[in-house]
Amino acid sequence: DEKPLHEILQDTTKKYPKLQALHFMGKELTFQQLWIQTERVAGYLQSLGLKKGDRVAIMLPNSPQSVIGYYAAMMAGATVVQTNPLYTERELEYQLKDSGAKMIICLDVLFPRVKKVKERTDLEHIIVTGIKDYLPFPKNLAYPFIQKKEYGKFEKPLHGSYGGHVHQWVHLLKESIRNVEKVEVNPKEDIALLQYTGGTTGYPKGVMLTHFNLVANTQMSQQWIYKIKQGEDITLGVLPFFHVYGMTAVMNLSIMMATKMILIPQFHAEDILKIIEKEKPTLFPGAPTIYIGLLNHPKLKDYDISSIKACISGSAPLPVEVQEKFEKETGGKLVEGYGLTESSPITHANLLWDKRVNGSIGLPWPDTDAKIFDSAENMEEMEIGEVGELAVKGPQVMKGYWNRPEETEKVLKDGWLFTGDMGYMDEEGFFYIVDRKKDMIIAGGYNIYPREVEEVLYEHEAIQEVTVAGIPDPYRGETVKAYVVLKEGSNVTEEQLNKFCRKSLAAYKVPRIYEFRDELPKTAVGKILRRQLIEEEKAKQE
Ligand code: ATP
Repeated sequence: DEKPLHEILQDTTKKYPKLQALHFMGKELTFQQLWIQTERVAGYLQSLGLKKGDRVAIMLPNSPQSVIGYYAAMMAGATVVQTNPLYTERELEYQLKDSGAKMIICLDVLFPRVKKVKERTDLEHIIVTGIKDYLPFPKNLAYPFIQKKEYGKFEKPLHGSYGGHVHQWVHLLKESIRNVEKVEVNPKEDIALLQYTGGTTGYPKGVMLTHFNLVANTQMSQQWIYKIKQGEDITLGVLPFFHVYGMTAVMNLSIMMATKMILIPQFHAEDILKIIEKEKPTLFPGAPTIYIGLLNHPKLKDYDISSIKACISGSAPLPVEVQEKFEKETGGKLVEGYGLTESSPITHANLLWDKRVNGSIGLPWPDTDAKIFDSAENMEEMEIGEVGELAVKGPQVMKGYWNRPEETEKVLKDGWLFTGDMGYMDEEGFFYIVDRKKDMIIAGGYNIYPREVEEVLYEHEAIQEVTVAGIPDPYRGETVKAYVVLKEGSNVTEEQLNKFCRKSLAAYKVPRIYEFRDELPKTAVGKILRRQLIEEEKAKQE
């Protein structure tokens, strides 16, 4: 359908005004309430001078405001720029400058940070909002971790007067009279979202996603999941909405399907287990490290998590052990999918209630083409089973990178998006990712894909999490190093791990160095930051 994204909220509201849309720490909002608040916020933003095509930054953890602000900005004709609430001043400034955002909606505790960079950016207005805007605070906090954790991590809330260009969310809701001026949106041309790439590699680039891109990817997701009952199915919103995966697979999909979503502002394993037992969500999109975190929690057995019915795991390879254990614990399905920011993001997934292949990213999503090419330059198609670069084509593929035409040209060729991931396809059309092009290790002339080594190590019973990286080596160019997090109470030596790897891997692939750590650095969706570990290593060697 060619419609602006915010119209999916309107459609659902018309059909199911009385159904619960959001659940936030014990408080619920119906679709009707969500729609009314979205209109008010949109009207207020317009009253501040927001024009079609202007950028509005959002810097919020999952909360009613993060959903309302997103839809409201689009309804007002603007382009949303999602900003990670954990960004430092430097990162925030970069993104605000690069996108040219005119307004920002931020959590009250982040206000000091925003204020500091304001003068160096195009920001004209700041809208502040806090948890207390939706909950009597601090009384009635169903999940007190928000207070302890979040307020501990972010800066102190600001008290006192704010000044002319600073606005409080509650005023947006109260004072404006829902008089949104309808903005004509061209879904195929107009940019709904500037989503910055994760930054696991290189500098973040703004990915331009149109309304058409986002609606298409949400519709594909709906066709994929299909067995949904309004008023019964509930989505667990652990993935952050400021990341493209949570945005589509949780937020937009729940709005389109009219399922309630439970908004979780911050990942905390035991709290998630508690919430599952209490609120009984059925759908749980996640990432491998999220499932690993839950499965390895010492109190897992104390909670009933059997309400979980369907999960898609994306953003990084899903170890088969994790998949099997999770399915056993919940009785639900957990299948692997794949995507990237540049494609809104989902392009592949295994089927939930039909054939799937463990270790594969599954089949191309509806309306999506996928091929394996030798390279973006030659565009020669590889044979079945041969490794090359995965490219995808479909309505979810971005318009390009914001203000970076040369970068766009490098990845978009004849409508094909080159993913930067190496993979292959089997006879049945299932796709496999071997690793990122950039992460391939070349040690002593041999090519090694870290993922293959990781898969082997994940089979070891003592290992909770592992990442393998190529670190600089004066003699071999690069050498294989494994960063290991052990399960609580487990013990293993380097020698034992070496022996274990030797059983399944050729000698040149076996890690030469092991480092045991308490935890590994991760992105907002829990992707392990392999690059950061390599950078640390380089800094050490210098
Ligand atoms: P940057 O683009 O700045 O490097 P990023 O890689 O984190 O950051 P995303 O768009 O969030 O940006 O991630 C997309 C990448 O995640 C894919 O290109 C792929 O490498 C990886 N990925 C996603 N799903 C899977 C999967 N199921 N298996 C293996 N890798 C995956």
